[in-house]
Amino acid sequence: MLDLAVIGAGPCGLAVGVAAKRAHLACSLFDKGPVVSSLQRYPLYMTFFSTPEKLEIGVPFVTAGDKPTRREALAYYRRVAEHFELDVRQYHAVVRVERTAEGFELEAQHPGAAEPETIRTRHVVCATGYFESPNLLDVPGEDLPHVSHFFVEPHPYWQQRVVVVGGGNSAVEAALELSRVNARVTLVHFLSDFDRGVKPWVLPDITNRVKEGRVAVRWCSRVVEITRSHVVVRRDPDGDRETVPADFVVALTGYRADLSPPSPWRPTCEGSTSRASFRPGSTPTRSSSRTAGSTAAGFATTLKANPPELPLGGDRLLDIVRPRTRCERDESGSVLTSEARRVP
Ligand SMILES: Cc1cc2nc3c(=O)[nH]c(=O)nc-3n(C[C@H](O)[C@H](O)[C@H](O)COP(=O)(O)OP(=O)(O)OC[C@H]3O[C@@H](n4cnc5c(N)ncnc54)[C@H](O)[C@@H]3O)c2cc1C
Repeated sequence: MLDLAVIGAGPCGLAVGVAAKRAHLACSLFDKGPVVSSLQRYPLYMTFFSTPEKLEIGVPFVTAGDKPTRREALAYYRRVAEHFELDVRQYHAVVRVERTAEGFELEAQHPGAAEPETIRTRHVVCATGYFESPNLLDVPGEDLPHVSHFFVEPHPYWQQRVVVVGGGNSAVEAALELSRVNARVTLVHFLSDFDRGVKPWVLPDITNRVKEGRVAVRWCSRVVEITRSHVVVRRDPDGDRETVPADFVVALTGYRADLSPPSPWRPTCEGSTSRASFRPGSTPTRSSSRTAGSTAAGFATTLKANPPELPLGGDRLLDIVRPRTRCERDESGSVLTSEARRVP
């Protein structure tokens, strides 16, 4: 029987694994993809916002430049797993978690296996992230094949008309990369300016591209319909509609944690506070699960024999979350604690 099973081998899951290793716990990590699989879907040429020491988990993170690239980060996290000899069970999707008298029973399905494997463990840490659940526009046509909620690289869009939806870092960086390969970019954003969190060194670049007309922008505008050839944009507050030709639509409107764990432990929220708790068999309302989703992203939540309330500290611990995880035994040998802190 394991002391600890970690669902998800992203940066937070790995940090839990390292802390567990240091505490001499028998711990395995289960990921439905490869280790740090969500980084695989990041833009190929992205540079992290954080400096490498802020992303470190137990071993130094040395990079060629000031900030790590995606490729450097992938190599780093592989090295962390190797250095600490973490038991990372890649391509094992956890499909069920049940409470038992001793702790928990998990089922993990490998695509090559006919039946899921059963794992018994005293504790479970759920570190399943948020990058797989984009905030949808919720408009007709969003499911068309030329619409994507992820941007990986600009090459496929050369000389194409691309509508980028959003005004944060992902949208701005995608618009810039697209403009550099001569895609015809129109950025649609519901605010009257770029988001305040846009990287300071990126802002002058996009501002100048907008000024010189290489990136067209529709401020205070929302996409209300997508067809195979165009996007219908409604301008606030007057409601005027415009048809913008589009060969591709890249909607980069953020992501949220999918807190529908494969278990009878459902997240619930207490009123409008940012406290989530896990109770057996309770079913979240749509709004409560959304609140829990936004607070629990990137957060390694510990499910214990007596499900604790989780003080999540702030209502939007979204993108920039760095795990600081401690795993300790108390006198009875059963306490695990974990916490996640926002990167300054
Ligand atoms: C473009 C971009 C740039 C970013 N830049 C920075 C930055 O500069 N600094 C910073 O601190 N943060 C940055 N972030 C955010 C950071 O990457 C995330 O906060 C971090 O990846 C969260 O780690 P995590 O382990 O919680 O989740 P994830 O990395 O999403 O890992 C979750 C893992 O759980 C697995 N999983 C999900 N469900 C199951 C299941 N049922 N069974 C098994 N496995 C499952 C997934 O496959 C995945 O590997 C950035 C994010 C993006 C998108």
